[in-house]
Amino acid sequence: MSLEGTVERREGSPAGNGNGPVVKQPAPPARPTYGDRRLRLNPNTDHKPDRYDDVQSEYDSAIFSSLERHLPPSMLDASRDAKVEFMKEILSRYLPEGERNRVQRHKEYRKKLMSAYQPLHKELYSLHPSAFFVPSFHKAINDNTEESFRNFLCEPSPGIYTFPLFQPSFCELLLDEVENFEKWVNTVKFKIMRPNTMNKYGAVLDDFGLEAMLNKLIEEFVSPLAKVFFPEVGGSTLDSHHGFVVEYGKEKDVELGFHVDDAEVTLNVCLGKDFFGGDLFFRGIRCDKHVNTETQPEQEILDYSHVPGQAVLHRGRHRHGARPTTSGHRINMLLWCRSSVFREMKKYQKDFSSWCGECQREKKERQGQSVAATKLAFFKAGGGSNT
Ligand SMILES: [Zn+2]
Repeated sequence: MSLEGTVERREGSPAGNGNGPVVKQPAPPARPTYGDRRLRLNPNTDHKPDRYDDVQSEYDSAIFSSLERHLPPSMLDASRDAKVEFMKEILSRYLPEGERNRVQRHKEYRKKLMSAYQPLHKELYSLHPSAFFVPSFHKAINDNTEESFRNFLCEPSPGIYTFPLFQPSFCELLLDEVENFEKWVNTVKFKIMRPNTMNKYGAVLDDFGLEAMLNKLIEEFVSPLAKVFFPEVGGSTLDSHHGFVVEYGKEKDVELGFHVDDAEVTLNVCLGKDFFGGDLFFRGIRCDKHVNTETQPEQEILDYSHVPGQAVLHRGRHRHGARPTTSGHRINMLLWCRSSVFREMKKYQKDFSSWCGECQREKKERQGQSVAATKLAFFKAGGGSNT
């Protein structure tokens, strides 16, 4: 047995909230086009980007600062307005109009939720590293070297990193907050959006006020790891995320099919509580083209048992699923970390999948064939004999 059926793409933020009228958006103004001027693959790290906090846009201001380093050199000294226009033009190609309307509707949904929901534990809504994280994790990130990371985490299979992350008291507070949120949702009969297309239970943390805290958590504590371990999938340019909890158990979701995440880098942390089963299974990293190919049994199979407080960090394209949680109640926090730069680059670059296990296997096979062909030609030509 090497592959458990067809891989699904697990999408975030389902479209439409079915709650109140859809706000019709004015048609977007005509935008100047910039021909085929392209972003640079490698960021200009010496360039200090402008601040975009005050720019009115459906995109997070951090995306502009991050993209700016990838602008063509001729654009770097342009006015901030010109840069914004150029970047909006690129981003609008990335988000078609239907998607933009969806983003706008989601913004309004979130505003509505946040103005009505009263947080239970206010201390969760800003990042307190020493209260949230176990000291060894905090220290490894502060030391900020590959060596300090490697001394601290385990890599049970290539590209999968596990490590203790949250203190038990933090897990408890977060579980409590999620429970409080769900109780509130039920009391006021607010129709909430579920975290993605595959989970019917759970909640989007970003939707009820935790977005800023999670942004900081990713920027300061996930990005340093992603930069070192996943640079080839945009790990050094993470600039947005989707943060949510999923719930498994008898009256919740039981298991999760085989899939890849809509993320460049995924952080999956078990928060509790008591449960049996629910193991994660991993089956190799794949590009779009190869997402349904066979698993290589010696290198690509890993089963992992969740431990509360412990995190698993992997590429979004690392195929995985969750086995049934056979008893009890399991809640995990997921952070899907994304890179707009990586997604934009992927469109221009043909060979953009050096990280795919199947692309690597094919390449090796081609190399093997060409070595064999060279050898054969060599022997046919009489090489290798002493006469
Ligand atoms: Zn591939």
